[in-house]
Amino acid sequence: MTPEEFRRYGHQAIDWVADFLAHGERYPVLPPVRPGELTDALPARGPEKGEPMETILADFERLIVPACTQWNHPGFLAYFANSGTPEGILGELLAAALNGNGMLWKTSPAVTELEQVTLRWLRQWSGLPEEWFGLIYDTASTSSMHAIAAAREAADPESRTKGTARGLVVYASEQAHSSIEKGAIAIGIGQDYVRKVPVDAEFRMRPDALEELIAADLAAGLRPCCVTATVGTTSTTSVDPVPAIADICARHRLWLHVDAAYAGSAALAPEFRWAFEGCERADSMVMNPHKWLQVPMDCSVFYTSRPDVLRRAFSLIPEYLVSAADPRAVNLMDYGVPLGRRFRALKLWFVMRSYGREGLAAAVREHVRLARWFARQVEADARFEVVAPVHFSVVNFRFRGSDEENRKILERVNAAGGVFLSSTVLHGKYTLHLAVGNYQTGDRHVAKAWELVSGAADKS
Ligand code: PLP
Repeated sequence: MTPEEFRRYGHQAIDWVADFLAHGERYPVLPPVRPGELTDALPARGPEKGEPMETILADFERLIVPACTQWNHPGFLAYFANSGTPEGILGELLAAALNGNGMLWKTSPAVTELEQVTLRWLRQWSGLPEEWFGLIYDTASTSSMHAIAAAREAADPESRTKGTARGLVVYASEQAHSSIEKGAIAIGIGQDYVRKVPVDAEFRMRPDALEELIAADLAAGLRPCCVTATVGTTSTTSVDPVPAIADICARHRLWLHVDAAYAGSAALAPEFRWAFEGCERADSMVMNPHKWLQVPMDCSVFYTSRPDVLRRAFSLIPEYLVSAADPRAVNLMDYGVPLGRRFRALKLWFVMRSYGREGLAAAVREHVRLARWFARQVEADARFEVVAPVHFSVVNFRFRGSDEENRKILERVNAAGGVFLSSTVLHGKYTLHLAVGNYQTGDRHVAKAWELVSGAADKS
């Protein structure tokens, strides 16, 4: 492609994006496609000869977009809704143009240093300790896997050379995200050595139960090494009692990891700081700007107060990557599995500068306001109940009926096309889950969701 052609198609693509963002609601949130339909619509073999960009762009619009679940739709109210903001999209575009690879400081000083600068700002905005070291991974799953690897390194340094010793044990609540268990699988600790700590009536880890499990494991000759506390669990956004968990970790010298993948963004608003009490005592913490901080996929921030341990776990420098030592030249490849790392900090920087801390806190606040409004509608309708406390921007609720009736309600709501809600299981019952998190979601969308839910219940 010549520079002039790029300019032409680039303008066309940006025009398309601007229209898409302005009129995203023209698509249903959930695409009405069957499994395999897109595959069948595309050629079985790739083209021998290059094709014109007009055709490629036309096929993108005709075939690809209609088969996308529209995560950037303001009616996307499922899982943890997120945002591809215009600022973030521009950052992504420019990062792709630079095509930087921050393996070493030398291979891209800007990729390395902007990551350190943005994460310092974020740490300050979140009230986290100044001395923490941060780096960006693709997902919280990867971040938490690195936390478990660092915990293993701290507990059993020989594991780096000899493989993971049997009997290291990892703890997280029954409500913790599955990524903790996956991390333990990946690091070789093994699923049998992941303890799911019981929760209280509000879905928070019970410290007494944690203490009991640790005691039982010690008595059995096992080696507890890591506890993950979650601030904002996946189903209910419950907040584990981090101070009490930190006390237990200190007593037993265990690595404390905090998974704040979703709720971490709320730390930017002072009224939500209560949820982060005790987090300053963590050995590591993850929060995902790609969940609730207006940053497009993917961007997961991993902080640790013990970067030396993480580095010990992973630093391995082949000859061709040896570089001059300089205390200000951080080589991010030393702190994890990935060698190559793309310029994720650029979109984060664009978003942080364009919104400012106040703008990002205001977005969190607005989403919480919308969720609380929805919860009030549910509470005011005797046919429904709110099933878990609404701490942030998520409401778990159910029709006071059978699982089957709730499933049908969800199917009817989602089939209408304008909104997408998801489900979970709480106290053994099928539960509906509404999450506000897209930058364009407003009163209208949440009101529509309630209208559809209550209308679907009329038919039950
Ligand atoms: N931790 C929590 C609390 C989550 O809710 C999720 C996903 O929703 C994850 C971790 C995994 O996130 P990721 O998709 O970035 O791996």
